[in-house]
Amino acid sequence: MNKKTMRYENGVPSANTADVDKNIMTHNLGFPRIGERRELKRATEAFWNGSLSLDELKSAGAELRRQHWLLQKQSGIDLIPSNDFSFYDQMLDMSCLLGNIPARFAWDGAAVDLPLLFQIARGSGGAGCACGAHTPAVASEMTKWFDTNYHYIVPEFHRATTFQLGAMKPFDEFSEALALGFRTKPVLIGPLTYLYLGKSHEVGFDRLSLLDRLLPVYEEILRRLAGLGAEWVQIDEPVLALDLAADWQAAFPAAFQALRGAAPSLKLMLATYFGELRDNAALAFRLPVDALHIDLTRGGSEFDSILDRVPENITLSLGVVDGRNIWKNDFELSCAFLEKARQKLGAARMMVAPSCSLLHCPVSLRNEESMDAEIREWLAFAEEKLSEVTELSQLACGNGNAMALHDNQVAIRSRLGSARVHRPEVKRRSSAVTPDDSRRASSYSVRREKQRSALRLPLFPTTTIGSFPQTSEVRSVRRRFKKGDVSEADYISFLKEKTAECVRFQEEVGLDVLVHGEFERNDMVEYFGESLDGFLFTANGWVQSYGSRCVKPPVIFGDVQRPRAMTVDWSTYAQSLTERPMKGMLTGPITILQWSFVRDDQPRRETARQIALAIRDEVQDLERAGIRIIQIDEPALREGLPLRRSDWAVYLDWSSEAFRISASGVRDETQIHTHMCYCEFNDIIDTIAALDADVISIETSRSSMELLGAFVTFDYPNEIGPGVWDIHSPRVPSAEEMRSLLRKAVAVLPVDKLWVNPDCGLKTRGWPEVTIALGHMIAAARALRAEF
Ligand code: GLN
Ligand code: ZN
Repeated sequence: MNKKTMRYENGVPSANTADVDKNIMTHNLGFPRIGERRELKRATEAFWNGSLSLDELKSAGAELRRQHWLLQKQSGIDLIPSNDFSFYDQMLDMSCLLGNIPARFAWDGAAVDLPLLFQIARGSGGAGCACGAHTPAVASEMTKWFDTNYHYIVPEFHRATTFQLGAMKPFDEFSEALALGFRTKPVLIGPLTYLYLGKSHEVGFDRLSLLDRLLPVYEEILRRLAGLGAEWVQIDEPVLALDLAADWQAAFPAAFQALRGAAPSLKLMLATYFGELRDNAALAFRLPVDALHIDLTRGGSEFDSILDRVPENITLSLGVVDGRNIWKNDFELSCAFLEKARQKLGAARMMVAPSCSLLHCPVSLRNEESMDAEIREWLAFAEEKLSEVTELSQLACGNGNAMALHDNQVAIRSRLGSARVHRPEVKRRSSAVTPDDSRRASSYSVRREKQRSALRLPLFPTTTIGSFPQTSEVRSVRRRFKKGDVSEADYISFLKEKTAECVRFQEEVGLDVLVHGEFERNDMVEYFGESLDGFLFTANGWVQSYGSRCVKPPVIFGDVQRPRAMTVDWSTYAQSLTERPMKGMLTGPITILQWSFVRDDQPRRETARQIALAIRDEVQDLERAGIRIIQIDEPALREGLPLRRSDWAVYLDWSSEAFRISASGVRDETQIHTHMCYCEFNDIIDTIAALDADVISIETSRSSMELLGAFVTFDYPNEIGPGVWDIHSPRVPSAEEMRSLLRKAVAVLPVDKLWVNPDCGLKTRGWPEVTIALGHMIAAARALRAEF
């Protein structure tokens, strides 16, 4: 029910009437668009496979927007965003709006419609193109949105790039909302963030030089929005939370002058989020905007200095409700921020909001009927967060609901004191960790000799990264097992059969170090989370990762402990089928942390250490069970890097310690592997070396071994498996291609340190291509062995 009506019913004067001057405005920066049941994913994929028409897809989108606007209204949000909706990605929408369409898509200049937009996102002419009429064009690159797990489509820039109004989306959505009775606040990605997050491959070309060409289109957009009746426009410049070079900083004032001049009647809100403003604060305050939004969940420590300096003509929007996590807001803490601001600025010059767009959290707790009732009380998803924003604004201007504050504090205290969360034995063990726990007993050179004689592997040993094809058969049996249609015994014997087939296949194709295939795993984090204490899984806690792809991150709510071995049965079963070494496969502590919603009542490093100790136990159990090689995957190590470089050292220190705690409890003879992918290694190569894994496999084939450069320059001391097969693409490289990649590696690294493997796990590939590609890979390794 509408909170404001509720207050009328209770006879409490509404902030809107009695205390106009005391009312603190609420707003939202963006709402998840996927729908509480992933309706958007279903509709989009149905359109892609031809079972839904374009019109039907568009009306599915319109229906979601209507629901979401209404829901925000009912939650008491005063300024509701529009243009936060997207059928694929908001950066791609910006590229279309600005008419920045890569030339290979042969855009005719007419307003960009969804089929073209999807082609840019997914490639055309191949599987991504429904019409079949287009000449093949590769998709635009996709990359992570700041330090979130959301991926955006990277804008492409050239010297010749020009801009023009290329789509009508923000105008259409504004008018659509207005017709429904909502005067929304359109959201645009700001011109500097748009340029900054794009890429150019032209040497010596600076994309910032495009700003002058870009601004007139922004000006036109603002003019049009003003003409349609918009009062506020939100301009997102999250790059203000990054270390900006002087020329980027210097570009802000003139850019915003231009925006301001375009539509003097519009109120501009500059939205920053994901971190402190630090050296960009003075800059932000100089910009001719009406409101500045700051993220207080991440920038709380600079709040006082911001308050002291916020200019008189600027309204401060306080992002107190965490848009990146799922915990209930602590009203006492937030009210302290709001009270300080109210005293300094007065209610009329402040707003209350989530810290950033709610895109990064699940839609609603409403559909979590079967969730543990105690834990449910501690959580707030997007919908609940909107109510928090409203309640906070009411509390902060003194006409709040005392019960709301009371209930909130009961929930906060219940979590703080819960025995479900706090396990003294876990905390004791974690605080007793000594430096020896994160160090192998002997140095690498000693271990290396012992491992050589224990394992007796050939030169250029071949292996894979862990998973083998998760065929529709595997996925459907798992689904039926989870539903209860397949018994546990049948499920296990099915998986054993798949594992045995996989081991046989690897022996036949000629791999040296085998894996069990990971058929029992749905996901590399979920599988471990399900076996560890302290993790919770939601039924519907989906978050958009990219396009129609959503992930359901586990919630780490309490001290982490491993009640029993998690992988030993599978690894020993697989080892029993072969004489060759069977590699044990684990997900590392940082990746588990990074791909979960993490508790916010203790530092992340403490949670990482607890997970590390659990993985360490598993590593030792595997060793005891006779597994001689154990791989601990850390594909997410790099993505955990803080946005500001000066914060890197602290993070790298505790994250590498966590990895080493998990890896260091074994004998010299036991070989520890790690695996990393999707990343540049240059700036963290010293940390990677400090992990001291005996072998690291990395993704390098797409960059044709360029990424290996960091290891060479650093003189990386341990063994390396540079990927020779880009498993993200259905294309199967020839043996000759793989051999020439390996030759590149041989030219720069000692032959006795090289492994041969694909770029990453094979779970998304099909058996036919895996069979051929691994055959080629083995042939390439053998050919090289013959040369040395
Ligand atoms: N072992 C995992 C697999 O093969 C690694 C996946 C990853 O690096 N993302 O699937
Ligand atoms: Zn990988």
